[in-house]
Order: sequence, then C-alpha cells, then structure tokens
Amino acid sequence: MSLPRALQVLADLPLAIDPDEVLRFQGYKKGIDVPDSTVLALFDEALALGESLIEPRVVYRAVGLTGQGPAVIEAGGETLHIPAIGRLWGSLEMVGAGICTVGAAIEERVRELWDQRELPLAVMLDSVGSAAVESLAEYANDLLCQAAIAAGLKVTNRISPGYAGWDTAEQAALFHLCPGEPIGVALNDSCVMTPGKSISFLVGVGPEARVDHYFTQCRRCWMADCAYRRAPAAATVRR
Ligand code: SF4
Repeated sequence: MSLPRALQVLADLPLAIDPDEVLRFQGYKKGIDVPDSTVLALFDEALALGESLIEPRVVYRAVGLTGQGPAVIEAGGETLHIPAIGRLWGSLEMVGAGICTVGAAIEERVRELWDQRELPLAVMLDSVGSAAVESLAEYANDLLCQAAIAAGLKVTNRISPGYAGWDTAEQAALFHLCPGEPIGVALNDSCVMTPGKSISFLVGVGPEARVDHYFTQCRRCWMADCAYRRAPAAATVRR
C-alpha cells in the first residue's frame, strides 16, 4: 500500500473491536471502574452480536498541500481552519483524508431492540457500534502510518471536524477532499453522517510531520518490529 492520490476503498477488513472502548462508551473508567458479572454477560452478548453485524469499510486518499499556516491547511481547493494545527502537526507535504463506517445494520438492530424494550442490550450494542467505528478509525490511521513509513514519510494522529476546536461545518470540506459515497456514507445539510456509526478524519503527512507527542496509534498497531514505534503495543485493532 502507498499513499495514493486516487480514492482508495477498503472493505472486509479484519477489524477487532477494542473491549476497553466499549466499556468507555458505557462510562467505565479503565483501571478504576470494574463491571460486575451481569454487565460482563451483557457485554459478551452485545460484542458477539455486534461482530456479526459490522461491515467495516474505509475510503481515503492523499491530497497535496497548497498552503499551511498556524491554524490553516489548504489542500485540494479547500481551506481547513484547525486551531494550533501548525504547531501540533509541524510542516506537512500532504494530508490523508478519510471516512470509515461499520455500516447501518448495527444501528438497525439497536432500533429493533429498543422497540422490543430490550433496553440494556440495545444500549450495550450501541456502545459496541461506537467502539467498532473508533477502532476502525484507529485501524485506518495505523494502515496509513504503515504505508507512509515504507515511503519515508510520517503520519500524524487523526483529527475530525467537531473535535479539538475544528468546526463541524468543515465536515463538508472534508467530504469534498474525500467523498463518502464509495462506502455508502452520506452527509446531510447539518453535517451529520449516515450511517451514524461513521467517522471522517484527517491526518498530516510528510517527512517533517510531528509525531513525537502522539502514541495512541502505536498502542493499537499490529505492525511487528516497527523501528519507529513510539509506544508498546497494548492491544490490536486487527483480528
Ligand atoms: S507502530 Fe506506530 S509508528 Fe509503527 S507503523 Fe504502527 S502506528 Fe506507525
């Protein structure tokens, strides 16, 4: 895999859902809150159900930069306003723009369970879906990093519109850089994605990109013997 300028679609990915993410969406703090046996049984049931329903898909492409400022990235005819991004990501050559989804089936099952008043399982399955798409975004971030290393480049952590001061309205600009249509993700006028269990993301790419203060992707990355690993692998998001 390289860092291609053309749209790339990945499907049937061997995604592993991080159990810690599921419990985080349930409000558990790792190392502090311990779920009881009832919660764990529900967790196991929802995780197995979720794994049978998810359809992980990713679309992404690399886009060359045409400009960069302390809080601005220009690429592909779009101007993205992201607070402190020049300091956080350093000098870039390009960005990787991507969208990932685990599909609509898991949401539909959550709705059915809700209608059947099976509320604890519905809520846990919804957390499984949220954790699955977060794990998938990590998976995509790791894939991009692995590909960039082979090309002598570095890839930053991912960010998304609506987080860290990046205006949600710029979701539309991100979709112009990388449309969701090839994986069935649509954006409405309020910048909400359908299916709901979808994440759009941007990463910075370049030989001088700053990665020294980001460790999350390494902790879940499955790449063996990576000479650039910044943190030990604690789990993996690949089966
Ligand atoms: S271990 Fe870290 S630096 Fe190496 S490919 Fe994975 S995410 Fe990138």
